[in-house]
Amino acid sequence: MFERPRGVLEAVRKDVEVERSGILQHIGHTPLVALGRVGKGLAVPVLAKCEHLNPGGSIKDRIAVAIVEDAELRGVLRPGMTLVEATAGNTGVGLALVAAARGYGLVCVMPEKMSLDKRVALASLGAQVVITPNAPPSSPENFRNVAQRMAEERGWFLTDQFKNPANVRAHHETTGAEILEQTGGEVGAFVCGAGTGGTLTGVGQRLKRTLPHVRVVLADPLGSGLADWVETGVLGADAAYAVEGIGGSEAPENLHRDVLDGAERVSDAESFAMVKRLVHEEGLLVGGSSGTNVVAALRVAARRDLRGPVVTVLPDSWDRYRAQPWLRAWAQ
Ligand code: PMP
Repeated sequence: MFERPRGVLEAVRKDVEVERSGILQHIGHTPLVALGRVGKGLAVPVLAKCEHLNPGGSIKDRIAVAIVEDAELRGVLRPGMTLVEATAGNTGVGLALVAAARGYGLVCVMPEKMSLDKRVALASLGAQVVITPNAPPSSPENFRNVAQRMAEERGWFLTDQFKNPANVRAHHETTGAEILEQTGGEVGAFVCGAGTGGTLTGVGQRLKRTLPHVRVVLADPLGSGLADWVETGVLGADAAYAVEGIGGSEAPENLHRDVLDGAERVSDAESFAMVKRLVHEEGLLVGGSSGTNVVAALRVAARRDLRGPVVTVLPDSWDRYRAQPWLRAWAQ
């Protein structure tokens, strides 16, 4: 068992109830499994952390509970308050379950391009959904700017996963620590995609603290500008891609370039073909970004210069994508 991380501010707010109870105790501590079939014959094993088995079905449960607890400890989140996040997906689900378990309101702000499915999913979990026009980050109507303004005007707590350091800390103190324990401290490389960058930065920092030789590699969808940024410091041109939750045209604040040793670019076709193999050959019922992560992890594992297994994460579950053309095509 892993001890709940203790923040420095815990000493300041001893009066705050921070013990996890009920379902919140079961966030994290996910299995780490070897990819025996898809990773067969490589120089080192490839191990995947089953984040799709979290209570809310994704890796984002970890940051949802960590961000809420951090804000409670700092005294900026008090009983009965409302959380607001600019999200369309997994973070909204994680926050919805934490809000329910801890008695907070939740408002999710999302751009109108998001599917009706996603709006209905979050609303059914008890969130109030606010739809904004599809507007660039510079516009006041952009969904992230609207969320920030609503927080300021109405006294809501902005969870702010792209900037909030509690996101990185959650992965440093839980995901990274669990990987060290589950591998007995033997890791050659850690490979995964970046949405907010919290997973890659937090796990990368934690592993390097104990194992300085570990390679930390970004798995990036072809079409994202982040791989170029990792390699050169300048964002690449962005183009459309279908994998969800990772990549982008801006480097998020929680993605720290100094932790990264390289990047692997993965096409949609490669990602979705790998998801199909993970489902049909490994029994791992995972979503699109898991395919991206595993394709990149296999490439890194094929090199003969690592001192231990390659570890990656399977961020979410296949059932989020049942309406998507790439998954529907399997049934034809
Ligand atoms: N995969 C999926 C499906 C996600 O929703 C996210 C989060 N946006 C990620 C991967 C990336 O995680 P992080 O935000 O920690 O970079």
